Amino acid sequence: MTVGSTSVDRGHLSALLDRERAAFRAARPRSAALAERSRQHMPGGVPMSWMVKWPGDFPVFVDRAEGAHFTCVDGIDHVDLCLGDTGAMMGHSPAATVAAVTEQLSRGITTMLPTEDAIAVSAGLAERFGLPFWQFTLTATDANRHAIRYARHLTGRTKVVVHNFCYHGSVDETFATLDDDRRTTDRRNNIGPPVPTSETTRVVEFNDVDGLEKALAEGDVAAILVEPALTNIGIVLPDPGYNEAVRELATKYGVILINDETHTICAGPGGITRRDNLHPDFLVIGKSIGGGIPCGTFGFTAEVADRIARSVELEDIDVGGIGGTLAGNGLSMAAMQATLEQVMTQQAFDHMIPLADAWADGVQAAIDATGAPWHLSRLGARAEYAFSAVPSRNGREAADADDFELQQYLHLYALNRGILLTPFHNMALMSPATTRADVDAHTQMFAACLDELFSRG
Ligand code: PMP
Repeated sequence: MTVGSTSVDRGHLSALLDRERAAFRAARPRSAALAERSRQHMPGGVPMSWMVKWPGDFPVFVDRAEGAHFTCVDGIDHVDLCLGDTGAMMGHSPAATVAAVTEQLSRGITTMLPTEDAIAVSAGLAERFGLPFWQFTLTATDANRHAIRYARHLTGRTKVVVHNFCYHGSVDETFATLDDDRRTTDRRNNIGPPVPTSETTRVVEFNDVDGLEKALAEGDVAAILVEPALTNIGIVLPDPGYNEAVRELATKYGVILINDETHTICAGPGGITRRDNLHPDFLVIGKSIGGGIPCGTFGFTAEVADRIARSVELEDIDVGGIGGTLAGNGLSMAAMQATLEQVMTQQAFDHMIPLADAWADGVQAAIDATGAPWHLSRLGARAEYAFSAVPSRNGREAADADDFELQQYLHLYALNRGILLTPFHNMALMSPATTRADVDAHTQMFAACLDELFSRG
């Protein structure tokens, strides 16, 4: 039997998956024991619920991570192509970040007062992304939330436009999708929405300029929140001119445009925004810019800064919905200062991007050799394969190409051979510490995997 366009024999797949599960259990007795203990006080035995979704019967417990590798508690070395889903895109514990953070740790972690590092960080971000003013949070989620709040405040409108199958962190307004009649509705398993997302959100497909214009023309939209290329439903690249059309329509309808570069920073030191000379009103980024230390930030134009300054009262500024006691703390500022200046450099991308291409070439060769009807997408230091013959143009197409069981199998096969992929995708990310040998290890593993998978398909 085959499902979708994957042409994979399901019985064969299920037998292979059983074999890999058994091998996983056999190789990892210490992780298994820790998982058992973890269940006593953490549901699912994990510190965050989504960690139960990793393939295998329990998560791999990490002993130490360094550069592009980590070792689990069973002593197995892994090539890490997940890199904390971009949180560790600059490698695990980069030396410059560790030095700066170590120094700051004994000089005060958080005080509610600024440190001098904040000046260098905001100036560096301004130069990197072309937006003059910056504010800081601890997560990209919070940065998105704050940008949305300001957009509502400045426009006096309520709705947010997002792309179908987007992900921008745990932001209430974004857990919406299009139903079969192309109406906005709650995304499957949206947990505890405050109100139906149809009240807060209008969803459009990526690369659908006409659909976007229709959504904006109603006159009630405060903000468009976008990734300039989708990265959370596989990689979906913009058609030529799409991001520029989004900007034009935002201007035409007086809507605030927020570019979320949290993942698309993989395109280069200034993300897609700088690479393609885009001009959002806000830019959000988190995860990688602190080398793994929690931090997030949002930048905005001088016009936005001026409108905010004129409309927010000093007396209420701490309880107006923009905040976070630990935001802008000395530790995350020190981490960002060192990471942005010394680690996340053009030179680093000059190393990372050719490696991602080499990884993608290796995957493509295996796909070609087996005739699997799959395709590859590339975005700077990131690449991904998907189970459809042609690249998806929007989130719906990308979601339709998904195959959960097949994905679990491919990830588990890789994990059993010491390679960690980004979960919930077939994605690989390169860091400055990743080597050609790491990429070649994946290429060999993947070719053998596909050979076996399709040998009876
Ligand atoms: N924006 C994008 C594009 C993301 O992919 C994510 C997380 N994957 C976030 C924001 C939220 O980041 P965090 O979970 O660190 O808040």
